[in-house]
Amino acid sequence: MQKRLLVLYTGGTIGMDETPDGLAPVPGLLPRLLERFRSPALDFELREYAPLIDSSAITLADMRTLCADIAAEYEHFDGFVVIHGTDTMAYTASMLAFALRGLAKPVVVTGSQLPLVHPRSDGWSNLADAFEAACQDDLHEVALAFDRLLLRGCRARKVDAAAFAGFDSPNAPHLARFGISVDWYREHWRRVTQPFAPVLPDAARRVLPMLLMPGASTALFGRMLHEDDVDAAVLLSYGNGNAPADPALLDAIAAATKRGVPVLNLTQVVRGAVEVGAYAASQPLARAGALPGADMTPEAALAKLTLLGALDLDAEAARAYLTANVAGELTVA
Ligand code: ASP
Repeated sequence: MQKRLLVLYTGGTIGMDETPDGLAPVPGLLPRLLERFRSPALDFELREYAPLIDSSAITLADMRTLCADIAAEYEHFDGFVVIHGTDTMAYTASMLAFALRGLAKPVVVTGSQLPLVHPRSDGWSNLADAFEAACQDDLHEVALAFDRLLLRGCRARKVDAAAFAGFDSPNAPHLARFGISVDWYREHWRRVTQPFAPVLPDAARRVLPMLLMPGASTALFGRMLHEDDVDAAVLLSYGNGNAPADPALLDAIAAATKRGVPVLNLTQVVRGAVEVGAYAASQPLARAGALPGADMTPEAALAKLTLLGALDLDAEAARAYLTANVAGELTVA
């Protein structure tokens, strides 16, 4: 039976061409090129957003629109492909993964490192793989197709801005590998346990990112956390979740936690997890109220903390939501 997909095109290198200012998206170009993917096995409707953007410019409002558009069209298509710039692709994939609760259809995000109009573009294979993944009836999650890999959306990270192998999921197994034949690693695919119940991200949410560095950052972040326009914060600590026991930071985390402003403690290391108690240096943060985020990516953390603004949870339920494995984003110890 012919599959019908909805293709949502947001922008990114894949549909860009040279302009006097450098590479920029060209409206209408990608839809024309995509025609070659139509076949007796595959039909699709393409929606090109205006303006097309370099994904470095994406906003929470844009992500909200994308989530809303998939939610509105959910019943009308067999699967969804989102074409996106690589810079923030992992953020959008994560946002979709948490927003589309109970998803029981494939949503596959892709893009490329070289534009389709470039003779060596990786865009053709990325699109072909994304289309094929979006036709798998039993793929019930948001995935990211790139350089012959299919990754869990809320585990993916941009790991290379120079090579075709631009993405990986350092803390989670791959979902498929595309070769002459496709290895579908179905044993790692998610099983849906609840009916489709999307929730849209709160576009006004302000999540404060705090990358720890030796020096002044602890005191600075302490001061920023006291600002009352901060809704939530992500602390990127060292190693297994360690930080200096700096009262300026710890008191600010304790005060924020008391105000109902959650602070998620993630590691700034690419692979591995926050493990409270592995080192004594992780304890003060936990005692101050910082929530251990295990091996969650910053992209997934932003999505969860943003969605929290739309979920009506009391403080305890919010803490449970942030530390639980909701969409396959973290490894439960
Ligand atoms: N700057 C581009 C973007 O994210 C990079 C890309 O698509 O590869 O839109």
